[in-house]
Amino acid sequence: MFIEPHWTGDKRGWIEVICGSMFSGKTEELIRRLKRARIAHQHTEIFKPSIDTRYAVGDIVSHDERSVPSTPIGNSQEILLLSQDRDVIGIDEAQFFDAELPSVCDRLALQGMRVIVAGLDMDFQGKPFGPMPALLAKADYITKLHAICVCCGHIASYSYRKVHSKSQLLLGEAESYEPRCRVCYAKGPAADRAIP
Ligand code: ZN
Repeated sequence: MFIEPHWTGDKRGWIEVICGSMFSGKTEELIRRLKRARIAHQHTEIFKPSIDTRYAVGDIVSHDERSVPSTPIGNSQEILLLSQDRDVIGIDEAQFFDAELPSVCDRLALQGMRVIVAGLDMDFQGKPFGPMPALLAKADYITKLHAICVCCGHIASYSYRKVHSKSQLLLGEAESYEPRCRVCYAKGPAADRAIP
């Protein structure tokens, strides 16, 4: 079981990764951890890739519409410039960032920051997504969240794309994707729907 570490100000940082499929609650969990740090008067900052424009610009919004302010950025190096004097750094939708993100997180942690990264571990083809594999390898703490398969009700680790597009960057929510278990994901369009 994951026991959440707490930043105590002794300038020893670390990296936490929250991963899982779509609809598994990654952003909610990121927001929960950051809000608790803020209650303790720790200085926080949340970054997200500027490519993610599904919701209000400048806000990080989970599917249940709990939002906190965030800073949209174009590449991971900008995080280093914008993280000065922060205690806790949150990074959402990490799968969309460039390959430098893991080393950026390393540097932040070395500077004494608590770094919390949330992202999709697999793309819609079931392949490791962007910098997530390297982030998971470097992380001190990993939380893998699951959704519920919309076809059969088992634990879901896959994001099944319901629309035809080969782009890895297709953004969207319920209209484009659904969470599925390993078996129903493999069945593709033929998966039975036990749950209406
Ligand atoms: Zn299933």
